[in-house]
Amino acid sequence: MSNERRAHFLATAVGLLEHLRLLLGERVCIPEAYSQNIPSMQQVAVEKSEPSLPPESTQRGRHFHFDVSTLVPMSRIFDDQDDFLAAQSLDELYQRIHTCTKCPLGTMRTNFVFGTGNPSADIVFIGEAPGADEDLKGEPFVGRAGQLLTKILAAIKLERSDVYICNILKCRPPNNRTPEPSEIEQCKPYLYKQLSLIEPTFVVALGLTAAETLLGRKLKMSHVRGKWFDFYGARLLITYHPAALLRNPELKRDTWEDVQELRRAYDEFLRSGNLPEPIGNAE
Ligand code: SF4
Repeated sequence: MSNERRAHFLATAVGLLEHLRLLLGERVCIPEAYSQNIPSMQQVAVEKSEPSLPPESTQRGRHFHFDVSTLVPMSRIFDDQDDFLAAQSLDELYQRIHTCTKCPLGTMRTNFVFGTGNPSADIVFIGEAPGADEDLKGEPFVGRAGQLLTKILAAIKLERSDVYICNILKCRPPNNRTPEPSEIEQCKPYLYKQLSLIEPTFVVALGLTAAETLLGRKLKMSHVRGKWFDFYGARLLITYHPAALLRNPELKRDTWEDVQELRRAYDEFLRSGNLPEPIGNAE
């Protein structure tokens, strides 16, 4: 058996085990020697296509293009609080907005939850809003749902540090209620500024609130999950929020299909620079 076939065989076997672990939890054990010794699917894909120089955009995502100032009323652009538009980096953006009290949630939070991960990630995951654990720690997706997200990422050979993770809202709504439209409208410019600094190639909306906010319309999860949308030059994929998987484990199978599609599209992008064909776009 050639090395390439062996690598594919092992990668497929470990992928199946990881799928089972996602469905059944830690009862499924993957020998460390396996997961450490096989090349990642990404490595295999890159080794396969020779000669293969990665497209320039894989070194620095340059797909998301959006004029954030269009989200901020003109009267507010000249407001001191809106100087976040001038931020040149994520750190600078954080410094400019972490004391925000534009909506009532700003006075209720323990911590402002900005986002975490690779500041030039190709893939950004966006959830709804911080929960209790996130509010306490000031970091997104650190509670049970966050731990599940970490496992989902590992199942497609991604570390949290490979991607960027954030939410539509930066402050926790009381009792984890669904964000109010007015809160989303106030906070959305921060998210888009964040995205315009990261310039991701792929965006994953976790849950319907994130998906509807990003696409700008009402959606039905069963119609849109696992499908690709154009998102200002990037590609947007919609799947379930990990908290929904904790409430309803039956959704794990669909989610597994969705993240496999993400992995497939990302590998294809790394190999050829091509993006998946979208079925719609943001409004
Ligand atoms: S949720 Fe957003 S808009 Fe509201 S106070 Fe927090 S940072 Fe500001």
